[in-house]
Amino acid sequence: MQRRDFIKGIGAGGIASASLLTANTASAKKVIKWKMVTSWPKNFPGLGTGAEFLAKTINEMSGGRLKIKVYGANQLVPALEVFDAVSRGTAQIGHTGAYYWKGKHPATQFYTSVPFGLTAQEMNGWLYHGGGLKLWEKLYDRFNLVPNPVGNTGVQMGGWFNKEINSIEDLKGLKMRLPGLGGEVLKMAGGTPVTLPGGELYTSMQSGAIDATEWVGPYNDLAFGLHKVAKYYYHPGWHEPGSTMEAMINKDAFKELDKDLQHIVRAACRVANADMLADYTAKNNTALKTLMTEHKVQMLKFPDDVVKKLRELSEQAVHKVGQHDDISKEIYQSYQKFRTDVMQWSKVSEQDYMAARSQ
Ligand code: CA
Repeated sequence: MQRRDFIKGIGAGGIASASLLTANTASAKKVIKWKMVTSWPKNFPGLGTGAEFLAKTINEMSGGRLKIKVYGANQLVPALEVFDAVSRGTAQIGHTGAYYWKGKHPATQFYTSVPFGLTAQEMNGWLYHGGGLKLWEKLYDRFNLVPNPVGNTGVQMGGWFNKEINSIEDLKGLKMRLPGLGGEVLKMAGGTPVTLPGGELYTSMQSGAIDATEWVGPYNDLAFGLHKVAKYYYHPGWHEPGSTMEAMINKDAFKELDKDLQHIVRAACRVANADMLADYTAKNNTALKTLMTEHKVQMLKFPDDVVKKLRELSEQAVHKVGQHDDISKEIYQSYQKFRTDVMQWSKVSEQDYMAARSQ
């Protein structure tokens, strides 16, 4: 009797396991297909390849249950229409930069980079462990979007100019491609900021439609050949000290995913976030050498008094955006507090170490 019960027990367990297996197999066979629109040319070094890396990582981590097809700028929608496309569900996910959406809400600008703001390392600290991402989610919720940090370029370069910038006056009347808060600062200095997608920078410089441009750093600027259309390469990128890229997800599409897939997507975003910064750190270095030795690019540093003035104007510009509405105030206060606190730590760690290493 005991033996029969034992065997019966195994039998029942076996059946239970088998039906569980059938259920798992059934969900494993269900393949979800998403479209990813991006603001970058397909496979553009760093940014486009970063988007592909995210799609590939999600596909592999999910065992092929969530497949994402990546579209370059203009393949499905133009570079600067990614926000609308994902918000309304034309695409389920978009890889882009939050500051392109300042027309949707000015506070989006805190989520790419703030002039004289956080570095990549500090930005990740604020987003993941300083409350920044929670507020970003709150900001994007009204647009039916779920934001994720996916990639960081590190400190950018100050841009390409055809005249020297020896005083703040030299920025007056300058028409420069400079998106986000950096653009607001240029406007305050008497210049004209323009937001253009990366793919249009070379021709806009060549035709004289703009006088100057920034893009990212040596790795990306070399890829677009910007050294062929400008004389001087300025540093540092005061306007973008550590630009975060974003993967925005349509909220309805995200909610439809099984819980484990949602975790996979979020985890893949974190992996891709770290990977892009590593990619930029490695490649900027070699590209800078190529620009300086092969292309004899003239590197210039912004004079101290110009930087000081830009910093003063930046404080005003950032403060102004931070007063726009309640959510802007909340984000601004959180960002500013984190910046003040982390600067004390960075000063005695990264900053002192970098100085010690250069002596
Ligand atoms: Ca830039």
